[in-house]
Amino acid sequence: MDEQFEYSEKVMEHFRNPRNVGEIKEADGTGRVGNPVCGDLMEIQIKVEGNVLKDVKFKTFGCGSAIATSSMITEMAKGKTLEEALKITRGDVADELGGLPPIKMHCSNLAADALHAAIQDYMTKKEEKAKLEAEKYDYDVVIVGGGPGGMSTGILCAYRGLKTAIFEASSWGGILSWLCPTKMIENFPGLCEKTTCQDLIDTWLNDAKRLKVDLKKERVSEITQDNKVITEDGEYRGRIVVIATGTSPSQAGVKGEEKFSKNGRGVYYLVRNPEEFHGKRVLIIGGGNSAVDAALSIADTADLITIAHRRDELSAVPHKIEHLKTLDKVKILYNTELLEIAGTEKVERAVMRNIKEDEQLQMTVDAIVLAVGLTPNTEIFQKLGIELTEKGYIKTDRSQKTSMDGIYAIGDVASEVQFTVVAIAHGLIVAHNAYTQLRKPYWL
Ligand SMILES: Cc1cc2nc3c(=O)[nH]c(=O)nc-3n(C[C@H](O)[C@H](O)[C@H](O)COP(=O)(O)OP(=O)(O)OC[C@H]3O[C@@H](n4cnc5c(N)ncnc54)[C@H](O)[C@@H]3O)c2cc1C
Repeated sequence: MDEQFEYSEKVMEHFRNPRNVGEIKEADGTGRVGNPVCGDLMEIQIKVEGNVLKDVKFKTFGCGSAIATSSMITEMAKGKTLEEALKITRGDVADELGGLPPIKMHCSNLAADALHAAIQDYMTKKEEKAKLEAEKYDYDVVIVGGGPGGMSTGILCAYRGLKTAIFEASSWGGILSWLCPTKMIENFPGLCEKTTCQDLIDTWLNDAKRLKVDLKKERVSEITQDNKVITEDGEYRGRIVVIATGTSPSQAGVKGEEKFSKNGRGVYYLVRNPEEFHGKRVLIIGGGNSAVDAALSIADTADLITIAHRRDELSAVPHKIEHLKTLDKVKILYNTELLEIAGTEKVERAVMRNIKEDEQLQMTVDAIVLAVGLTPNTEIFQKLGIELTEKGYIKTDRSQKTSMDGIYAIGDVASEVQFTVVAIAHGLIVAHNAYTQLRKPYWL
């Protein structure tokens, strides 16, 4: 036979028993090429999972080598990543077939071209789909709550190039901004006792502005299952929604609390402004860090300070308890619970009970500080039906995902370990997940 038309054994074998002939149902990409001179027509379809070619099929109208090259390229490409498949050349196909007659080299050219066209078609469709999907949303990431957790998440998402908005109902920086802005930050490696809470908040705000995070002063009243965030001013959709609503000081739930807790009538939830306690006899209820912090913060202004705690020891960190014990004006009542707050216009008396002795006692006071814990702010999610823990925190997995698709929760609302660094770390985890989920980078 003329060597120009001599086929190898492998070419003949693939021509007689072509592999992967046919169509793929709901193919992810299709590549069609033709050679007008000899009339060969070739169509290759691909199915992609992750970044890998899970299936490759062909339909070819043409000569023996067109069939053989089509068959061979499907075998070569299957199981390869898209990048690997794009590197297959006509020469590679010919080599795998043990060579092609020189005049037929254009046929292997077609096979590689058809595969590359199918991959290109898949990529174009993927980009269009992502664009359409993105157009349905106002933001990549919508964050509810502008405390340390929410602000850090916003900064880190924007740093990754995600279009981000933060909604804050009251003041940027969260509980630290209104409760203790001038306090030196503790438990923050590298910054402990070096910066005030407000300094830290100002730095976050500058970073968020520099990275073009949309900072919205709006209270969110509802989040819907399709990731809509509703405020008094409008509705916004985020491809990902992050709940960072933190906690609020808990109520003690005792008689008289409601009556005296508004308009400066003597009941306080933690201490915002120590000056308000000038010359007063103050009763603090609680025994944790918040209660001891409250006592220490009014040590220079109050006249007398009594701490009443249900247990027989305080649970604050040791150095704070030691400091407290050095203060003559501070008295601690252990095993004591508050029963009632009494008075006419303002707080005048506290009625308490010694739990061990089962004895009632009354104390004349001017102010009562309730430092009985923090309650997670989950009210607005009741309709959403998001899963909570037994203690009322939002349940998340290790990547901060909640029970609802596309909704994450971070910081104090989702954790019993309540520190700024924890909220920031949660923010970083979410920013990483949001980026990989939305941008699907090839390297992950
Ligand atoms: C007295 C005190 C001292 C502390 N000192 C330290 C310390 O020294 N070091 C440390 O590491 N940690 C400290 N912490 C803990 C720290 O404050 C928290 O861990 C941290 O604030 C948690 O951040 P967050 O963003 O999760 O919540 P938060 O700070 O509570 O912020 C939540 C934000 O969400 C907003 N929000 C709530 N609901 C809505 C809504 N529906 N719509 C819009 N916005 C909403 C709130 O207004 C708030 O601004 C202290 C806490 C207290 C109470």
